[in-house]
Amino acid sequence: NLEIIFVGRSNVGKSSLLKELFGAKVRIGKRPGVTLRPTHAQVSDLLITDMPGFGFMSGVKDRKQDIVKDKTVHYIEDNAERIKIGVLVIDGPAFPEIVDRWDSRDQIPIDVEMFDFLREIGIDTIVAANKMDRIKENESDPLLDEVSARLGLEPPWQNWKHLIAPISAKKGDLKSLKGLLRDRLHEMKRDDLF
Ligand code: GDP
Repeated sequence: NLEIIFVGRSNVGKSSLLKELFGAKVRIGKRPGVTLRPTHAQVSDLLITDMPGFGFMSGVKDRKQDIVKDKTVHYIEDNAERIKIGVLVIDGPAFPEIVDRWDSRDQIPIDVEMFDFLREIGIDTIVAANKMDRIKENESDPLLDEVSARLGLEPPWQNWKHLIAPISAKKGDLKSLKGLLRDRLHEMKRDDLF
């Protein structure tokens, strides 16, 4: 068995993305209430896992972010052998500012921490920079340069096209992400998914 996990902050559009990617094949979506457990779906021999979003939710204590982070880290450590691909979903246009805000408090942003952790543990990690429809076409490259710099990947972002996929779940523009997933699955001899 082979697993792909999707991680990201709340509200980055992870559910929208999963719905677009797997559609009727998978029923991942908004869970009722607040749950800290991952949601799974099986697509042929591929296990798709939607990790709970980290970040603030109204009515939930701030500590939720830490709890979700700890649980996510444990889940990934426990299943690292089976997890072949990690997709970190970020809100592309909002990302640089979010990272800078954490930096100014001398904290490592949770997304960046998760990106480093996934890579350290040896999981092939793709960053899906969502909500790119919010950015004018000529502002897209400069934004993505900022995104890659904040992930510790030296710009220009085009040097990291095998890791960074600009997408819009809302518009159904997922070409770059599907391409990267297809490449990985092809290497694993699983071709027919995207
Ligand atoms: P999740 O909390 O990460 O699962 O995020 P959701 O899928 O629930 O989306 C959060 C909000 O972002 C919703 O209002 C979506 O309509 C919006 N959203 C999701 N994807 C996109 C996108 O590609 N572009 C824009 N502009 N908004 C999006």
